[in-house]
Amino acid sequence: MGKFVEPKVYWVGYQEMNDAEVLRYLNDSGNNEFLQSILEARKAGLKNAEILCSMFAKLCYKSLTLGKNANISRVRDIMDNIRGCFDVGHGSVFEHVGFNFIAADCSRVFTHELVRHRVGTAFSQNSGRYILLEDINIVFDPILDPIRQLCTEKQRADELWYAKAVEEIGLKNMTNFDRKKKITSALRRFAPNGQSNEIAFTLNLRTLRHTVMVRTARHAEWEIRQVFGQVYFLLKDEYPMIFHGAKEQLIDGLIEVSGMKLQPYEKTAEDLLKELTDDQLEQELVRRKKIE
Ligand SMILES: Cc1cc2nc3c(=O)[nH]c(=O)nc-3n(C[C@H](O)[C@H](O)[C@H](O)COP(=O)(O)OP(=O)(O)OC[C@H]3O[C@@H](n4cnc5c(N)ncnc54)[C@H](O)[C@@H]3O)c2cc1C
Repeated sequence: MGKFVEPKVYWVGYQEMNDAEVLRYLNDSGNNEFLQSILEARKAGLKNAEILCSMFAKLCYKSLTLGKNANISRVRDIMDNIRGCFDVGHGSVFEHVGFNFIAADCSRVFTHELVRHRVGTAFSQNSGRYILLEDINIVFDPILDPIRQLCTEKQRADELWYAKAVEEIGLKNMTNFDRKKKITSALRRFAPNGQSNEIAFTLNLRTLRHTVMVRTARHAEWEIRQVFGQVYFLLKDEYPMIFHGAKEQLIDGLIEVSGMKLQPYEKTAEDLLKELTDDQLEQELVRRKKIE
């Protein structure tokens, strides 16, 4: 018999740097000194994904090292450069690197919401055409705890119905694979939206910042908040710069991440605070305190 489950996220892949080719480029372009910047950034805890974004941003202005662009009298270090790119909204440089995840024990409610993010993403999901349902695990939002027993009854009824349908149509002994697949696919229309399944997904860094904010927001649904909260915590300590500007609040027991600037014309929550008069500032701080 199936169980009640909650989504789990695995961070399975990330962008690396090809050191030999980076060195070859730095040599050929006369930017050997940038190697020292890379080593210092690594020493400060930055990861290659972050360093690559900075390298590409600096390439825009020929500012990897001094002396390549006569308009420039100083160059920023990598950490400062990344901070600057986020602060001015130079977002496209963060599209160069991606992070790969698997969400397991997640529902089709969640996956449908996830795949609405079109830009800077890739998805591969369990196929309902091929996979025969047996035990139906259900992603269970604890808000339904007061009627847990009733939910268990519905889950059991769905499993029994499904097993009966498979039996009566003779699916298990069917030798014609094409017909088997068609029937498996037809039957999924009777499967619950909350059935547990898996999806692999990739987000580039620009999209990661956008999706973490919209999907951990208090107005988003419980399951997608759970997933993006896990995404955030998996990466946050490993990559010191990628969530630059992020503010955290605990809302309904789940993290809400806000305040990261995504576009040049946007203001961060901190910028907005600076524009307030003393009275307005006091009111705003009281308002925030109430929300917390
Ligand atoms: C709290 C919440 C409630 C929601 N409720 C509903 C609902 O009731 N019904 C429903 O159908 N959906 C709902 N959605 C989904 C929502 O409408 C979006 O489809 C989803 O959040 C994808 O985000 P996005 O549009 O930012 O797309 P992404 O693909 O993540 O795009 C990122 C950004 O790129 C830009 N962009 C992307 N595509 C285009 C384009 N074609 N043209 C111009 N700019 C573009 C936009 O700036 C966009 O924000 C909800 C989402 C949230 C967070």
